[in-house]
Amino acid sequence: MPSSDRSSIWPQQETIVKILLTEQELQVGIERLAKQLSVDFGERPITMVAIMTGSLVLLADLIRRLEMPIRVSLFQASSYRGGTESGQIEVNDSAMLDIKDRDCLLVDDIFDTGKTLTRVSERLLSMKPASLKSIVLLYKEGRQEFPLEPDYFIFKIPDQFVVGYGLDYQDLYRNLPYVGVMEQADLDAHHLAHPPA
Ligand code: 5GP
Ligand code: MG
Repeated sequence: MPSSDRSSIWPQQETIVKILLTEQELQVGIERLAKQLSVDFGERPITMVAIMTGSLVLLADLIRRLEMPIRVSLFQASSYRGGTESGQIEVNDSAMLDIKDRDCLLVDDIFDTGKTLTRVSERLLSMKPASLKSIVLLYKEGRQEFPLEPDYFIFKIPDQFVVGYGLDYQDLYRNLPYVGVMEQADLDAHHLAHPPA
């Protein structure tokens, strides 16, 4: 079924009309990354550290295309809400594996200012992995405020707010199989459909 027909089967999400990356484009991009990782890592075991919750769908699709031994470790990170010190993030590493002396790949959904990747990388490096590289699904152009760059990105996208394929707006839309742009009309429709409790 073409992606443009999706709205008819997900009426609750029909406001997301502008598809930026189709299911097929996403799968082609992930396959390309998997091939590159196979070249770069060979048969070396990898510990994937996935930043929850946005990277969940990418993680699931990517690890099934890799043939080296893979361990999966979860890490929760979110920007502080409500005016605390800027540059800090809230983390929860209770679902982390021991990564000391392991080759690690940090996985996130989207690289925006770079704050999340920078702060999480600092935290992981303090756990003394053998090596640390990073992967993001989306690299938003023109937003970077930190010097750290991801080692791998799958798609560059313009500076627009996107949802789907793991990415949320107010905890919804993660299950869209494509990446779509949320424009003002979509945000308005969302707030009408989901008024604050
Ligand atoms: P950074 O720390 O690089 O500024 O932002 C990364 C985090 O911000 C991402 O992990 C994601 O949670 C959130 N984010 C940034 N841009 C977008 C976007 O366009 N859509 C969504 N859903 N989240 C975004
Ligand atoms: Mg996130």
